[in-house]
Amino acid sequence: MHLGRFFNYPLFALAALPLGLMGRIRILPDQVANQIAAGEVVDRPASVVKELLENSLDAGANRIRIEVEAGGRRLMRVTDDGHGMNRDDALLAFERHATSKLRTAGDLLSIATLGFRGEALPSIASVARVTLETATGDDAAGSRIEIAGGKILHVDDAALPRGTTLAVADLFFNTPARRKFLRAESTELAHITALVTHYALAHPEKHFELLSASHTIVSAPPVARTAERIYQIFGKETLAQLLPVAAEIPLAHGGLPEPPPWKRDPDEPARDPGMLRLSGFYSKPELQKLNRNSIYIFANKRLIRDRLLMHAITEAYRNVIPPTSFPVVLLFLEMPPEEVDVNVHPAKTEVRFRQPSFIHDFVRDSLRTGLIKARPAAGFLAAHASPGASPSFMPLAMSPMPPTISPLPGSPADTVPVESDPIGSEARAEAEPFGLTSRLPSPITGKLPFDARALDLGQWDRQAWGEAAAALFQPALPPQADGCGQNHADPDAYPQDAAAATAQVEAEQAAANLNHLGSLRPLAQLRESFILAAGDDGLWIIDQHVAHERVLFEKILRDRQVEKVQRQRLLMPLLVELQPWQMVVFARIAQELECNGFEVEPFGPQTLAVKAAPIGLEGRALERTLAEVIEQSSSDSAESDKNEELTVVRTRIAASIACHSAIKVNTALDPARMEWLLLELAKTSHPTSCPHGRPIALLYSWKEIQRAFHRI
Ligand code: ADP
Ligand code: MG
Repeated sequence: MHLGRFFNYPLFALAALPLGLMGRIRILPDQVANQIAAGEVVDRPASVVKELLENSLDAGANRIRIEVEAGGRRLMRVTDDGHGMNRDDALLAFERHATSKLRTAGDLLSIATLGFRGEALPSIASVARVTLETATGDDAAGSRIEIAGGKILHVDDAALPRGTTLAVADLFFNTPARRKFLRAESTELAHITALVTHYALAHPEKHFELLSASHTIVSAPPVARTAERIYQIFGKETLAQLLPVAAEIPLAHGGLPEPPPWKRDPDEPARDPGMLRLSGFYSKPELQKLNRNSIYIFANKRLIRDRLLMHAITEAYRNVIPPTSFPVVLLFLEMPPEEVDVNVHPAKTEVRFRQPSFIHDFVRDSLRTGLIKARPAAGFLAAHASPGASPSFMPLAMSPMPPTISPLPGSPADTVPVESDPIGSEARAEAEPFGLTSRLPSPITGKLPFDARALDLGQWDRQAWGEAAAALFQPALPPQADGCGQNHADPDAYPQDAAAATAQVEAEQAAANLNHLGSLRPLAQLRESFILAAGDDGLWIIDQHVAHERVLFEKILRDRQVEKVQRQRLLMPLLVELQPWQMVVFARIAQELECNGFEVEPFGPQTLAVKAAPIGLEGRALERTLAEVIEQSSSDSAESDKNEELTVVRTRIAASIACHSAIKVNTALDPARMEWLLLELAKTSHPTSCPHGRPIALLYSWKEIQRAFHRI
């Protein structure tokens, strides 16, 4: 489409040719071109809100209010206090490729605004009824422009304050095929909520409000720090489950190619390549999700989806949480605009970094170092927190979870009884993105907007809800006193001083780590399975099996690195029968097994003879370890990266040996052995969780104990 403009002139010339000589190709009228662009930019109400929000932020707004009706289908209205537009600009804004953010092709290399393509407004206006009200504050009058299906209906003067309001009504009214693809209102509203929440997190210094019909869904006045914003939107428990990260590194060189030395101006000072900065929050190991929906990455305050950074995050959590689980992550990367190419996709959510591996490694190492340093201890807090909290002492996948969906006001979910499981546990797990511990909304008093029929859960579009809730970040819903649109926040739920409350959470959080494991005093063993220990910070319960497993796991990996895994000869070789496909897998990993202390030889076409094994592994446990490693390695894809595959196989073997040779539960331990185990555990780099991601030690903090006894 873009290139069409360049060819306008020759085509005009051709138009004069006799009809028979004319080619088949035509330039599409703008209205059609806009609708095609709309297909890329606007696929659902949330993408309209995204474009409008980005425009408000680009206009320097400090206060942004988003109102939606019927999940955005009927109306989306975004009001900002940004710099506004004069009459000419207001009309130009709806022209294709009209933008104030870019002038030359060179500008494309260093985009510092969220928008730059000049496509959003004409695309939106081609598929909806749009009203723009805008004023710069300098001109005598503001402007009011009405457009429907791409046609200007009215242009009027209007007395308006500085800023812009864009109202988008009846989305897809003229493209019924697209309208059909819209999901349930609640789904669309959930997507919008997730989006507004993201932007609110990226801009704690700005005021965001999201209202649906008469309900306030997000209300976030300005705060000083991201931590306070998290507190504001998700509440105390979520904040307590997250670790902060802040790191920076100077870039060695700029990502864009430099002119060759002979073309450089010798007087021009060398350009400073700038810094790469990382800040944000990421979850402690005990908090695990079944999908990636709780990972949010921003590059220069733009929310992006990026496989490279996803990989860096997975790497950071390797052997801290299971490979099938995902953490909760909120990352903000800042870099010079030249370092990131945002002109990759019309929706601008995909980017290309100019120095990808540098950024990848920086993110991975910063998170990993933070995890090792903080050694966060799992607490009991979430175990008896509000029903909206998922227990943090157990990986999500293993625990029966209480429902965690904050029903959206005005959605049938308001009427879902807490005990029932209308969406199935799978969808529920899906449905639980960031807000495992989002503050539970106070019951919404007043009339429920749905009649009793909504109680019939059969009506519910399961998939829609799963999707909706998955997209939903679960912001806490401020209590509604009368449903008249005012936010009657309860002062307890929203303390005046978010900063003080946040500081308190941070202080408690800093205390609860596993750095003092070595100084704990073992008190007793509980059911010959758990070690009870006293420490300055409270009462500890340590799972003896997983603790020993972690100790062995790290030792095996260490020994393996210096090729020193200790083996023992078996008195009698152990014969293991394998299926033909298992023999193939075995052949692939045989060498790695040998480096880990196994001595295995083929003994006939389908039998292996194990002559030596790592110390501590014998009999049934040995057999199981082998079977497990072969089984797990059988699904490795042939085309995966060789190096990566080796690391995976290596850690898998170490984890399996560790698991099968560690002290079992139901094994009596004398005080000396308990003390030894705690000391060894203290020396590991991740005493927080076993290689499979289960927590190792729980802390019942002194504060919680005092609280439980009503002493504070
Ligand atoms: P882009 O954001 O890519 O420039 P848009 O179609 O989204 O393209 O917007 C076109 C132009 O309209 C913007 O470049 C900007 O100058 C102007 N504009 C849009 N929304 C606002 C707003 N809320 N406040 C001020 N100017 C705006
Ligand atoms: Mg824009």
